[in-house]
Amino acid sequence: MTTASTPESFASAPPKSVELFERARKVIPGGVSSPVRAFRAVGGTPRFIQRGAGQHVWDADGQRYLDFVGSWGPLILGHAHPEVVAAVTKAVSNGMTFGAPCAPEVELAERITSMYPGLEQVRFVSSGTEAVMSAIRLARAVTGRSRIVKFAGCYHGHADHLLVAAGSGLATFGRPSSAGVPEEFTRCTSVLPLDDETALQELFRLEGDRIAAVIIEPVPGNHGLLLQRREFLQALRDATRKHGALLIFDEVISGFRVGPGGAADWLGIIPDMATFGKVIGGGMPVGAFGASRKIMGRLAPDGDTYQAGTLSGNPVAMTAGITTLDILRRESAWLKLEALGTKLESMLEPVLAEAPLPIHLVRLGSMFWLSLHEGGAPRTGAPLSAAAAAKFAELFHLMMEQAVYLPPSAYEVLFLSLAHTEDDLQTLADTLREAFAAMTT
Ligand SMILES: *Cc1c(COP(=O)(O)O)cnc(C)c1O
Repeated sequence: MTTASTPESFASAPPKSVELFERARKVIPGGVSSPVRAFRAVGGTPRFIQRGAGQHVWDADGQRYLDFVGSWGPLILGHAHPEVVAAVTKAVSNGMTFGAPCAPEVELAERITSMYPGLEQVRFVSSGTEAVMSAIRLARAVTGRSRIVKFAGCYHGHADHLLVAAGSGLATFGRPSSAGVPEEFTRCTSVLPLDDETALQELFRLEGDRIAAVIIEPVPGNHGLLLQRREFLQALRDATRKHGALLIFDEVISGFRVGPGGAADWLGIIPDMATFGKVIGGGMPVGAFGASRKIMGRLAPDGDTYQAGTLSGNPVAMTAGITTLDILRRESAWLKLEALGTKLESMLEPVLAEAPLPIHLVRLGSMFWLSLHEGGAPRTGAPLSAAAAAKFAELFHLMMEQAVYLPPSAYEVLFLSLAHTEDDLQTLADTLREAFAAMTT
């Protein structure tokens, strides 16, 4: 393990990552399995990560970084939590998938339905995208309607009909949508602005009885952190109920992250359906969608709405999820993370106030965002100016040179985990202060 690297050694991209990226680009589009990993928004060579432990990751050259990406959300316990690793290892040795029911999926479903308000049943899938896709199909089946409403700045995975005005990946690339999605597919999708009751009422007045479902991230965390007013979400709850449309909370990022009952419990607003991913898989590929027994009863094999998955509910992924949720509850994790978040605020705010650029901390529990928007904490998915994006890119690289790993896009949120300590927060604050002093743009 390499330690005490000088800033200079980080300044040029580490050789093994450079070499791997060259090879990767030959055989994988853009050299990555998911676009934002390619560092396009900040430039430079992505680090190929070799291992992680607690709050740290090590790249292929053995450089250690203090990590605030947390694999984009799942790693609420930090990397390679020993108990999760032990449980998963044991599960693996008994076989990885059977394509038959297994006890761990019952155990995880029991935990999720008992922790999340209003949920009676869940079906497991292998990603957040799949969870949302399946929930939408079910909502259309249950209501017999076709129209779906989403909000600009909310991301719900990459299913065709939701790939309009989505989150960071698309905002980063300045594309309103994606090639390969026929207009016919998105014709049934309406996009509303966040934080706007008037636009919401107007849409429901015009086509309320044709809307199958409204899907929203109750804590939008894919275009920065766009904290919503509770009244707005309540208006959404009221409008959907009045018009017989289903309200879907996409809690893939917020579920079991902002609290044991997700954003729904924290807000006291109960959706008709919810989607999950990230934290519930404890680092393994898991998604889930759930609702009342009545709604879920429309799914095959009981009902007429088809949905399936070869690896869905496999014992290894389920075990990672079960162990993660059990540790979170046992450790009173959400209280600890909130305390850590409060500390973060008191340490960062004075540093940000003296920064040579507008930069604000937006936080909910263990999710936070360094917003470069002039106005502070936006509530709608407005794009960043080119100047602000360039400033973020410089800041990102200055931080990376000092071994602090931020997400490589100004639109991405950062995550605290149970593995982060007050010393780590101090390191973040100190490194930011030094980076601000060194900034030239
Ligand atoms: C990450 C995310 C998704 C997509 O999940 P994948 O596992 O990447 O397919 C969907 N919705 C929200 C809110 C997310 O944060």
